[in-house]
Amino acid sequence: MFDFQDVVGQEAVKEHFRTAVASDRVSHAYMLIGEAGFGKGTLADAFAKMLLCERDPLHPCGICHSCKQVQAGTHPDVIHVTHEKPNTIGVDEIRSQLDAEVVIRPFSGRRRVFIVPDADKMSVQAQNAALKTIEEPPEYAVILLLCSREDALLETIRSRCVKLRLHPVPDRELLSWLRGLEGVTEEQAELAAGFARGNSGKAREMALSESFRERCAADLRLLTELPEGGAEQLAAGIARIREDHPDPGTFLDFVRMYCRDLLVLKNRGRREDLIFPEWEKELTRAAVQSTLPGIGRILEETERTEERLRANVNPELAIELLLLAVRQSTGKGK
Ligand SMILES: [Zn+2]
Repeated sequence: MFDFQDVVGQEAVKEHFRTAVASDRVSHAYMLIGEAGFGKGTLADAFAKMLLCERDPLHPCGICHSCKQVQAGTHPDVIHVTHEKPNTIGVDEIRSQLDAEVVIRPFSGRRRVFIVPDADKMSVQAQNAALKTIEEPPEYAVILLLCSREDALLETIRSRCVKLRLHPVPDRELLSWLRGLEGVTEEQAELAAGFARGNSGKAREMALSESFRERCAADLRLLTELPEGGAEQLAAGIARIREDHPDPGTFLDFVRMYCRDLLVLKNRGRREDLIFPEWEKELTRAAVQSTLPGIGRILEETERTEERLRANVNPELAIELLLLAVRQSTGKGK
């Protein structure tokens, strides 16, 4: 673990690190910016391994004492700043784990690497404490701030960091990577790649998760049965969606994929063109009951739901409106 090949995509970031090491121009402070699941932590650890490998910094050997310690998470010169409260990093945590540690010289190699996951959760005081170190770091210190929201950090910190942005991985690249993972079937790979929006961490989790498949089955059952169901089924559906989709956006993704399959079937597409081939029977039944304008209305309503959620409309209400649109799409429901 902790090599660049453990992270799919993000070539620009990897290249930046390689060039910095090769030319011996490593900066003292970096920001790795990207949403959770993009691989910030693995990239940071891989970079630490490069900086500390005793044999070949450009291609960390994985077998020297230093590499083994980085891999085991026990290297005394790699400090992962931790925090107790889930949503904040307090000033004391930065003082004790960064400011006080940074003055200690490296135990073995040339560098000490400080990795701050969730750096955007630092309180303002914590950021000011970190700033002291970032402004005048000892020559051996390398500080990596991992964050998903760049603007949560003070400009004074941002302006002193090299900013490296992570990006969604293109679907095709993600799919071929998922196919190579142990324990992932072709069907799971496709399903996960379709949902993950380029997020490799989420994709892997979905591909390997049994509950993800169950969730898909439950979503599909709800959508196909809704037009004939009553108010009770609607209410139960909303409750389950809220529980199964902590981020309601993933349910909207599902609805879009469902509509795509209905359209494929309406256009006499084949089973292999479906995103959910194993549910061909249920989908065909739903496709027969739906009209093209009805499917179009569901897609429009999905867009509208996304806007409502962005505008902070109550998620239960937003989903209810969407499900009502699904119910009416066949012209049978009321
Ligand atoms: Zn090594």
